[in-house]
Amino acid sequence: MTEKGSYGFHTQVIHAAQSPEDWQGATLVPIFQTASHLHPTAENLGQAFAGKRTDHIYMRLTNPTNRILEEKLCVLEGGRGALVMSSGMAAITNACLALLRAGDEFVTGNSLFMSTYLLFTDIFKKFDIIARLVDPTDTKAIEEAINSKTRFVYLETIGNPKMDIPDIARVATIAHQHGVPLLVDNTLATPYLCRPLELGADVVIHSTTKYLSGHGDVVGGVVIDGGSFDWNKERFTDFEAFIERKGRLAFLDKVWREHHINFGTTQAPIHSYLTMIGLDTLALRMERHTFNALEVARYLRERPEVVWVNYPGLEDHPFHTIAKKEFGGKGFGGVLTFGLKDQEACFRFINNLKLIYNLANLGDCKTLVIHPYSSQYVSFDESSREKLSITPDMIRLSIGIEAVEDICKDLGQALDSLPK
Ligand SMILES: *Cc1c(COP(=O)(O)O)cnc(C)c1O
Repeated sequence: MTEKGSYGFHTQVIHAAQSPEDWQGATLVPIFQTASHLHPTAENLGQAFAGKRTDHIYMRLTNPTNRILEEKLCVLEGGRGALVMSSGMAAITNACLALLRAGDEFVTGNSLFMSTYLLFTDIFKKFDIIARLVDPTDTKAIEEAINSKTRFVYLETIGNPKMDIPDIARVATIAHQHGVPLLVDNTLATPYLCRPLELGADVVIHSTTKYLSGHGDVVGGVVIDGGSFDWNKERFTDFEAFIERKGRLAFLDKVWREHHINFGTTQAPIHSYLTMIGLDTLALRMERHTFNALEVARYLRERPEVVWVNYPGLEDHPFHTIAKKEFGGKGFGGVLTFGLKDQEACFRFINNLKLIYNLANLGDCKTLVIHPYSSQYVSFDESSREKLSITPDMIRLSIGIEAVEDICKDLGQALDSLPK
């Protein structure tokens, strides 16, 4: 990859980790749909199990199709190693558990993706692990929440659906000053907008279900290890064996050896294959998603039925400046929220849409709508919903790559249907 390393992002999304010469000339990686791999001798299989050979053994451990996607995503995020998994939640669970033991703590932004929020607050609590939830844009609060039991700091590049954007570089500096790594869920920004490892983060996680695959056809996740964190002996006593084995990739080895292969969070190779087809157009799609989202935000703002619009691309948005800096002027993502009069108006609006799909997903090339309060967050108590800024008047849009005039036209006719 050294030679290809100089290519631009638009080229890398297509050509990174391509090796048709190894695939009998095929330009798409073959789908290795096999549970196990044949070994020529008993000695050979023994050496593979002992880690002395890198041959594939069994799909739950590794798979050649998955390996190519791992290499591609590693290049795109500027990481040192990557592991794809069966879902974004599998990636988050495995990455966090590799760092946590009973009695440990970690510091995390409070505007988390719904399942991440439940995992951190409800599930981890059962194992005596404490998540300290703070405003991710308040670096002082993050620093104050770190103590001797803290094992890592966790952020999302763009809070969903709150649309808050932390200063990753500053938080990375603070985390490192206290001897802990920074993990970033970069799902909403993608490496097209933001490369957290370059800003100082140590681990990047994605739900590849969203923009990376881009077509609503798969569920998948990835953990990418920057390989730069110093797993100091004082705090990370349990890392010694992994450092000995894999050096700079000790963390990823721990994720793989302790959790991924034993929890069985394997990605089906067909999902990796479909994700790679989607990846080819990631840069193009992100250009269009971000362009369309800004146009839609501006359009909605002009509509009298719309009470508020929350999109970081709007100049008066509280996180506009940091987003501009962190995303290098390439845009502000494809997700936005806006408010109507009340829940009844939201339902009427959604039910009148003709082009836009009402479903639970984001990052699809089709424009998607959801009323989070009554769907994803229906089981949350009122105070949790309030903390997450999930209000009954809120609609979330994931803007697709259709003609923006058609998206606005559909939104417009559904707004027209509301009582004046
Ligand atoms: C969707 C999503 C996840 C979870 O990913 P799945 O692939 O659905 O398991 C995690 N984080 C963010 C920010 C997401 O949008």
